[in-house]
Amino acid sequence: PELFSALVPMFHEELLTALSAHLSDYRYQHCLRVEKQAMRIAQEIGADVTRAGIAGLLHDYAKERTDEAFRVMITAQHLDAELLNYGNAIWHGVVGRYFVEQELGIHDAAILQAIGRHTVGDPHMTTLDKIVFVADYVEPGRHFPGVEAAREALANSLDQAVAVELQQTISHLVERHVKIYPTTFATYNELGTN
Ligand code: GDP
Ligand code: FE
Ligand code: FE
Ligand code: FE
Repeated sequence: PELFSALVPMFHEELLTALSAHLSDYRYQHCLRVEKQAMRIAQEIGADVTRAGIAGLLHDYAKERTDEAFRVMITAQHLDAELLNYGNAIWHGVVGRYFVEQELGIHDAAILQAIGRHTVGDPHMTTLDKIVFVADYVEPGRHFPGVEAAREALANSLDQAVAVELQQTISHLVERHVKIYPTTFATYNELGTN
């Protein structure tokens, strides 16, 4: 069999097995849809389809780890201690990228960065970062209010979809009275405003 790609030190089937071993079936299926959605967007805009697929597939790899596992990783990697004031919603991407690197042996900086930014974004997101950020939000299994607005924006441009996602996410978080990670605000200020 062929290697999934030179970016991943295992066959595609082994990667799927590793991913499914750490996720509930419903989240594993979400990851498969994000892989496809990210590849579709990349194909349409002439971006890197292979990296989009790998980052899309693995973006939620660490989502079902314990809070304790994330705290240990935050300390071990000497990450910003401010992270300890947040929770799984922030950790599974920002900190999750280290689980992907250490456990799956994926060292590609662009892939790891896109995984790290998939929830909170970044004011300086690359095209690959934006593809994974948006693919996660609009994949066909998503049914929340506002998903159609994001899909319509994506039909115009990836940047419009990023803006709509940021606007809707910030509103949604404020409505729920939950704490917003500073990077989420910084991303909104840079990419979500007109
Ligand atoms: P998922 O992992 O596929 O469910 O999607 P995401 O990783 O994009 O988002 C995970 C959750 O984090 C969603 O409920 C988002 O609304 C939420 N989220 C995004 N940004 C922030 C933030 O700054 N603070 C908090 N508390 N939650 C956030
Ligand atoms: Fe996620
Ligand atoms: Fe997302
Ligand atoms: Fe996701």
